[in-house]
Amino acid sequence: MTEVMSKISIEKISQSKITEVDFSNIVFGKQFSDHMFVADYKDGKWSDFKILPFGKLEVSPACAALHYGQAVFEGMKAYKNDNNEVLLFRPFENAKRLNISASRLCMPEIPEEIFMEGLSQLIKIDADWVPNTKGSSLYIRPYMFASEQLLGVRPATEYKFIIFTAPVNSYYAEPVNVKVETTYSRATEGGVGYAKAAGNYAAALYPAKLGQDAGYQQLIWTDSVSHEYIEESGTMNIMFHIGDKLITPNLDFKTTLAGITRKSVITLAKDLGVEVEERKVSVTEIIKAAKEGSLKDVFGTGTAATIAQVASITFNDERFELPKVEDRELSNKIASMLDDVKHGKVEDKYNWIYKI
Ligand SMILES: *Cc1c(COP(=O)(O)O)cnc(C)c1O
Repeated sequence: MTEVMSKISIEKISQSKITEVDFSNIVFGKQFSDHMFVADYKDGKWSDFKILPFGKLEVSPACAALHYGQAVFEGMKAYKNDNNEVLLFRPFENAKRLNISASRLCMPEIPEEIFMEGLSQLIKIDADWVPNTKGSSLYIRPYMFASEQLLGVRPATEYKFIIFTAPVNSYYAEPVNVKVETTYSRATEGGVGYAKAAGNYAAALYPAKLGQDAGYQQLIWTDSVSHEYIEESGTMNIMFHIGDKLITPNLDFKTTLAGITRKSVITLAKDLGVEVEERKVSVTEIIKAAKEGSLKDVFGTGTAATIAQVASITFNDERFELPKVEDRELSNKIASMLDDVKHGKVEDKYNWIYKI
């Protein structure tokens, strides 16, 4: 037993809520698994590791996160293989990224060991909550927020790190209609775009709502200065299949979130012999490719949907339709390769799978 593991106190729920769940009809975000992991940061260190029944937290009305937004999170999933073993996909990447986000917001890092032990213990206790039906999984939400009672503006000295989980159905991603956003921005150079910070989501809600009201399920975010260079699509990274190349915005400007799905798709595309370019991608270039007919595919990448194909792109009231979903060989192939890896159906050649 590791040091952290031996320090986790466990209080189990008296009666599991699992019998209340219809696994063939899960309502996303409404049903949570039985337990959660909680750790507290105080006096410069993490302690008080607990697993307890999922339930309400007590916070001060002056809780710093509620006022000044020191809050970061992660999103990941657990899957079952045919032997009913629980598999996580690249969890160390989530642990690393949470700390990158935390550092930018002046929050303490959470040691990888605590992240991984808390996660493993929690998933073990709630293993029955990991669905084994095709496409379903257990969504995992690790997050950290400033819990100190504090009105002064400075980095808080007390934080909570929590992990809870929720079963999710397969995500039937109908291709989405997207609009290139040229008024609002998600991120700016020098800002917090590369952090999975709660505030980034809050700031995106209003432009996203305007887009939805106009009939676009997602926005394509562009750089905040010229609105000419593409960054992401909604809360996913974005990729363009043009001619024989897969092209995606690079991460050099720190305005784009470094997606784990993005990174994995790049690896698999290269594996398939596809040339991948990570570089600045201009709206002009994409529109030109669409007009010339060389734009074969556009898709978002992220943990929620894995691959979300785009049906049409609208730029300044001009709409470009993309090829039929069946004809998008590359993204269909990569989506099924990723699905197979996550469910332990193929050899785990890159060591992406962590068995609980
Ligand atoms: C989480 C997130 C992504 C996708 O990251 P994954 O690790 O692939 O899930 C992309 N963009 C934004 C803004 C995100 O918050």
